[in-house]
Amino acid sequence: MSDIQLLPQVRNFLQRDLAHFIDGQYRFGTNKTGIPIVNPADGETITHIAAADMNDISTAVESSRNAFKGSWANISPYRRGVLLNRLADLIEANGEELAQLETLCSGKSIHLSRMFEVGQSAIFLRYYAGWATKINGETMTPSFPSIGGEQYTALTRREPVGVVVGIVPWNFSVMIGVWKIAAALVTGCTLILKPSEFTPLTLLRLAELAIEAGIPAGTLNVVNGTGEVGKALIEHPHIAKVSFTGSVPTGIKVGQAAMASDLTRVTLELGGKNAAVLLPDADVDAAVAGLVQTGYVHQGQVCAAPERVYVHRDRLEEVIAAFIRSLKQITIGSPLDEEVQYGPLANQPQFNKVMQCLKIAQQECQVVFGGKALDRPGYFIEPTLLLANSAQDRMLHEETFGPIITLLPYDDIDELPNLINDSPFGLTASIWSNDLSTILQLIPKIETGTVYVNMHTYLDPAVPFGGIKSSGVGREFGSAFIEDYTELKSVIIRY
Ligand code: NAD
Repeated sequence: MSDIQLLPQVRNFLQRDLAHFIDGQYRFGTNKTGIPIVNPADGETITHIAAADMNDISTAVESSRNAFKGSWANISPYRRGVLLNRLADLIEANGEELAQLETLCSGKSIHLSRMFEVGQSAIFLRYYAGWATKINGETMTPSFPSIGGEQYTALTRREPVGVVVGIVPWNFSVMIGVWKIAAALVTGCTLILKPSEFTPLTLLRLAELAIEAGIPAGTLNVVNGTGEVGKALIEHPHIAKVSFTGSVPTGIKVGQAAMASDLTRVTLELGGKNAAVLLPDADVDAAVAGLVQTGYVHQGQVCAAPERVYVHRDRLEEVIAAFIRSLKQITIGSPLDEEVQYGPLANQPQFNKVMQCLKIAQQECQVVFGGKALDRPGYFIEPTLLLANSAQDRMLHEETFGPIITLLPYDDIDELPNLINDSPFGLTASIWSNDLSTILQLIPKIETGTVYVNMHTYLDPAVPFGGIKSSGVGREFGSAFIEDYTELKSVIIRY
């Protein structure tokens, strides 16, 4: 087992001064105190990134506003689609560089960086590019009475809202950044991205590629820094919309700041404590294989991943045995090693948070598998399986966003809606069974934005995704995004 060779482009990128990408070029600003960017696989600092000050933020907003009214507005919808497709081509052409950069700062296995951060980003971009020529209003016939023989007709127009701020978490920087780029640009908006302070590298590289694709300067700007920078961007009077992906506590602050800033539109894609239920007839091997794959991928740091699993008591021992067999086979190690499936947690605060969850687990649950940090440099924690003692155990309620699945047995399927819905979150849930009648009866009773059957976590650009309850406000993908990125203008004509 050994690490892949880093590309020369990756080594060069890490040697460069890195700050913000505004109006088609790097801007270094006055704030020279760099935020260290740490490789979570060994805890070493690989580079630094400057945090924006108010001048950088104002410059970025002005540049985005100019592009919104000028260069990007002057490009036809058809051409916007062509340019997004070109960006997808460039993401693929530079895929290995992006994948290595992302793995270095996020701890994501190189396979996952190649497959999701690069591969899925290109797929999503191309899907959105196809919408470019299909974002239209409607015509209607008003019911006004005609007094002097005049007639009326009416139509609606979908107009881009303006400059959008996209705030991105650290778990899938490229892919979540691309969702925001695609939705904003295809509707005619311009975008300022604020990457996570832990994983800012790839979105800077993506902004360079956007220029190479022919997207005009200022259409996509990237401003770096911590949450303070995100907050200052939201509060800027010329921001028309905020698209935020991150945790519930930050999402609430973002929503409040957006409302306080003259009712800026906001969409929030937040956390989850996602339930999976195995009905009495479930194919245990298939269900456990699916739950291990989706529950521990990227060390569980996936918003839609299953974290709590309800199993019929008659099948519990079988399920535990299948989990243990499967968890023993996970290869743990350096995320740059192609034979490794499972690496470190993405950063020190996340490691500390999951260790805290494990402390609670030791007090309230039975640790069936794992449960400890690994004795090696970096932020490694074993894939962990817990068995809860009661439906009140905190590990069935708090989002760990880590490699922890908690099981709880049930006796009667009538208990399931209450068990699943006993959560402030409502992002995803899955049902594992071939009993179609019970599945179809359960689906309407489940309070989540997405329900999967015999699968979990898959996101597809054609299928709307988002949360209910405290998991969020708004939907991405499908045609659902159009509502959030455009204003509906009505025109009534008398003739
Ligand atoms: P986070 O909320 O800590 O940070 C997210 C982003 O918000 C970062 O860029 C951060 O710098 C910025 N930020 C922090 N404070 C801010 C403020 N006051 N104003 C504006 N911006 C601010 O989240 P995280 O730890 O980076 O990501 C993990 C969380 O994201 C988990 O809860 C996970 O479930 C959630 N998530 C949700 C989805 C989804 O689509 N629903 C996808 C991925 C991650």
